Amino acid sequence: MSNEDVVVIAVDGPAGSGKSSVSKQVARRLGYGYLDTGAVYRSLAWHALDRGVDTSDAASVVDAMGDFDGSISLDPDSYWVRVGENDVTDAIRESRVTDAVSGVARVPVVRHAVNARFRELVAESGRPGVVVEGRDITTVVAPDAPVRVLLTAAPEVRAARRSAETHGQDAASVADALHRRDASDSTVVDFMSAAPGVEVVDSSDLDFEQTVAAVLAVTERMREAQNAR
Ligand code: C5P
Repeated sequence: MSNEDVVVIAVDGPAGSGKSSVSKQVARRLGYGYLDTGAVYRSLAWHALDRGVDTSDAASVVDAMGDFDGSISLDPDSYWVRVGENDVTDAIRESRVTDAVSGVARVPVVRHAVNARFRELVAESGRPGVVVEGRDITTVVAPDAPVRVLLTAAPEVRAARRSAETHGQDAASVADALHRRDASDSTVVDFMSAAPGVEVVDSSDLDFEQTVAAVLAVTERMREAQNAR
């Protein structure tokens, strides 16, 4: 990250690991900002679909990026995502966007551009720290972050959580879509195993508060270890 003064807590993990809600709560507790990098990829996918682009075609995706004007809030208490004048906070969770997002996220030019933007957003956050969550934050976006966490959960637990969030869709198809997306995303970045120096928090048997407490405990431990150096 470009601004050495802003503490980054990097949190990676697969869909349904509880990463977003836990990261947001950790940010609140610490008075930090919260950056949902997946939402940025989702807003790009939303924009590409809005332009009628075939998101499986890398060249068309890169074309569509040309007039992308996205913004995102880093305030955990006032979270929104916009594309131009459109508030897309809810629209980017629709299954048509979820189904298209891996195609957009696999394009190297896209990843390069958004990673630069993530670093700017952190540096300009005006907060003492930012919890940045995604798939490649601990390894690519902020490999030097003082706190790096991989939040995992057993596949069946993740599928059950996601299905509880997506009302009106049957559990089997939600689980199927989640596993397909994980498989597709895993070909681009490895977020299933922890890189050296990354602490694993397995939330399979933890409730929300326990997971938040576990991430806060790791944060304290890693920061103490850093300060002792
Ligand atoms: O976290 P979320 O499920 O909202 O992420 C949406 C998609 O964005 C992922 O399926 C993945 O394709 C992409 N993504 C990524 N790298 C990140 C965050 C998200 O490739 N750091």
